[in-house]
Amino acid sequence: MTQQIESTDAMMMMRRALAGSVGVVMTMGALHEGHLSLVEAARRENEHVIATIFVNPTQFNSGDDFTNYPRTLERDIDLLARAGVDFVFTPTAAQMYPPRYQTHVEVEIVSAGLEGESRPGHFRGVSTVVTKLLNLTQPTRAYFGQKDAQQVVVIRQMVRDLSVPTEIVVCPTEREIDGLAMSSRNVRLSVPHREAAGVIFRALRTAAQRYDAGERHPVALRDTALTVLASEPLAEVDYVALCDPRTLFGVHDRTDDPMLMLVAVMIGGVRLIDNALLPWSLNERAALSLHLGVSG
Ligand code: AMP
Repeated sequence: MTQQIESTDAMMMMRRALAGSVGVVMTMGALHEGHLSLVEAARRENEHVIATIFVNPTQFNSGDDFTNYPRTLERDIDLLARAGVDFVFTPTAAQMYPPRYQTHVEVEIVSAGLEGESRPGHFRGVSTVVTKLLNLTQPTRAYFGQKDAQQVVVIRQMVRDLSVPTEIVVCPTEREIDGLAMSSRNVRLSVPHREAAGVIFRALRTAAQRYDAGERHPVALRDTALTVLASEPLAEVDYVALCDPRTLFGVHDRTDDPMLMLVAVMIGGVRLIDNALLPWSLNERAALSLHLGVSG
């Protein structure tokens, strides 16, 4: 039986009554196979599973994006029930941020570039809400998707810096047949834009193939991805970056160490992000948890 919990008090009370390991999956709803893959991992590895659904207003830096974010609560709860989730926590913004709310969590360095630069305040919103949800659910393990790689790095840093006693598990990106990373925002793409969005995965794959063929220079790998992206007139590149996966510092010289390639593209007014570890063989769970962000 899946139980919906709507208040923060009730969540804390339910949590206190749970003995044994707890896995948590945090989402903003509009669920897809990517979210469900995190739930499956949590189900396999913990005695209890809590999923949270909260469209967190403080991590949106555009009011339109927040307003237009898809909301499908009933369907989501149904999907989570079928996936074997024990509790679905669906707090309101008023519960999470009551009047005179004034505390925020800021992870300084790894939040600054990439998404942090394009979306000011985004990671402050994310690290604050994740801290609150971790405190409310007190999980043994929390499951996050590689799709939001910088978010994983930020959360791992926050968890280490604030001594949060939760293991952060990173699960690989679930993709559509053409390779497009599953995302709640994909439903906002028109048919031609949806078709065009396949270019993001082709750019990552082509760069990874060059890597596997021996290319190790980040500039050459970035140029490869940019050339593929330029072949799609509907895609407007925000950034393509090659970074150290632990620190997110840019890599500027040839190296045999793993690199993280991150891409952000606007297509038809929808901002899409994706990434891959190079070499491509590292894009699986054990390697992701090892390489992405600080460990230990
Ligand atoms: P969101 O609802 O977009 O905030 O995502 C909730 C969680 O699901 C985050 O940890 C995301 O990284 C993860 N996630 C989103 N898309 C995917 C995907 N395609 N594959 C795996 N995990 C994903």
